[in-house]
Amino acid sequence: MKSFVFQNQTIKPGTKRSMLLPVVAGTDSTVIPVSVFHGAKEGPVLGIIAGVHGYEYPPIVAAQQFAQTLDPAQLSGTVILVHIANVPSFLGRRIQYNPLDGKNLNRVFPGKADGTITERMAWLLGNDIIGRCNYVIDVHAGDAQDDLRPYAGYYNYFDTPELSEKGRQMAVALGFPYVIQFGNEPSLKNELGVYCSREAIKRGIPAVDIECGRFGMAESENVAQIKQALHNLLVHLRLETGQPLTNNQPYIIAQRTSVNSEHMGFFYPQVKAGEFIHKGRKLGYVTDLFGNRLADVLAPVNGVVLYMSSTPPISKGESLFSIGHIPVAAQP
Ligand SMILES: [Zn+2]
Repeated sequence: MKSFVFQNQTIKPGTKRSMLLPVVAGTDSTVIPVSVFHGAKEGPVLGIIAGVHGYEYPPIVAAQQFAQTLDPAQLSGTVILVHIANVPSFLGRRIQYNPLDGKNLNRVFPGKADGTITERMAWLLGNDIIGRCNYVIDVHAGDAQDDLRPYAGYYNYFDTPELSEKGRQMAVALGFPYVIQFGNEPSLKNELGVYCSREAIKRGIPAVDIECGRFGMAESENVAQIKQALHNLLVHLRLETGQPLTNNQPYIIAQRTSVNSEHMGFFYPQVKAGEFIHKGRKLGYVTDLFGNRLADVLAPVNGVVLYMSSTPPISKGESLFSIGHIPVAAQP
């Protein structure tokens, strides 16, 4: 077994190393905390990325706890674990955006070597983390306003069937009851990565997403689900020994519909994430800032509420619901 060289550090087989990777853009600066677990035996390199959105605490807490229990002496392969990709957003308690430049890290991939701080963070994550991996998982949760039903997701592009199939297998292996297909388009060739895990796909590296947890809160049930899913993935990829999940038959959701608000004001939801809905069902209503009712929000399709904005403020054009299509006959 060879040592693993990462950021000019030599990590011996069966050992781990933690480090802070600096990112500087003019007067803005931050660090990205990374731990590398280099296994005693040969195997693939898996990148685990948490905290691309710094207010989504369940993945961040789960990754930290997972790192405490991961023993490189027992690993076949290498895990590069990003504890918090977006430290300014985490410390600043800022949803979606990096407070230093107002950009969404999960919308700027591949980033820029000479860009703003968020663009440089993406550049480092793409080249120094994702680019070093054979497999990548990016872990998210519902942000401060979002109620969410846990699911796994993967990209399906028709011109890279092997890459898509590896992503599908990883998504199923995580153990969630729903798997969302992103993409479902002919090709990614003429597009940028934009999203963290799609940057991996763009580079030909199989990748998968988790969405688990709601309102940013690190609820123990969701933290435990994420840790279990990460363990399942390591077993699936043979980095850890154990029995892979063979009985998970998730519902594959190939299409989603986003419901956006036509008004600014207060949103009063009348369903919760995870509920099954029929087309035409009333999902809630919007009032103006004085409490006068402006509009009912109706379900445009049959499906399941994957995530939804559940706190009062809503702007015109903002997303209220993401509904995964499930025909009525397939609903319980
Ligand atoms: Zn997120």
